[in-house]
Amino acid sequence: MIELKNIEKSFGKYQVLKNISLNIEPGKITAIVGPNGSGKTTIIKSILGLVQPDKGEILFNNKSVIKEYLYRKDIGYMPQAASFPDNLTVNEVFNMISDIRMQQMNGNAELINILNLQPELNKKIRTLSGGNKQKVSACIALMFNPKIIILDEPTAGLDPAASANLKKKIVEQRDAGKTIILTSHIMAEIEELSDNILFLIEGKIVYDGSLKNLVELSGQAKLENAIAAMMNKEFRWD
Ligand code: ADP
Repeated sequence: MIELKNIEKSFGKYQVLKNISLNIEPGKITAIVGPNGSGKTTIIKSILGLVQPDKGEILFNNKSVIKEYLYRKDIGYMPQAASFPDNLTVNEVFNMISDIRMQQMNGNAELINILNLQPELNKKIRTLSGGNKQKVSACIALMFNPKIIILDEPTAGLDPAASANLKKKIVEQRDAGKTIILTSHIMAEIEELSDNILFLIEGKIVYDGSLKNLVELSGQAKLENAIAAMMNKEFRWD
């Protein structure tokens, strides 16, 4: 469904993605894991067309998406830190995005309920806490019933109840056949959610396969230890 072929990307002299080739398995949750600065967000932004790779191809249902944009209607995206117009209320932001996407909101009431966002709906974005802005962003990623859901550190900054409910929702979406890509620094969360792991170090893929296989290969019982066993001493989690 989503395929990257020999993707390279540099910012100035610094090569961030080094010959990245991968296939995202449809109907599964794929976690992109790696130390800070390893290129996770750059991969996500390349898939979204927000970063243009210097070399290589990105295919969506076997068609190149470089410089295309219509394919994005099938994607819901929750960035690491969203920014919305400060003077709009939450409801106004939802309506604005619905107008821009030319798509009806779908299941929004349930999302608002599970994230406990009801009390915030008529407040202006600038008055919202960071966690509540994250909830708005999570709603937007999920509320247009997209086939592909891309979540960059979805639970960072969320309160425990919202975090648990969002994770439940992510699994529910996978079980309904959606393709999900997420990043997280929380190993227990990745272990709980993911089917597949893409492990990046310094812009290179060092593991691409199932979570189960990674744990088995390493001979470790836990993902955290499996990852640690795969990393050279000079790499560390920040
Ligand atoms: P991760 O998501 O794994 O933390 P990123 O993909 O955000 O890593 O970034 C990888 C590297 O690319 C970092 O060193 C970051 O500073 C650099 N980088 C990302 N975006 C830009 C940009 N727009 N301009 C310059 N450098 C960038």
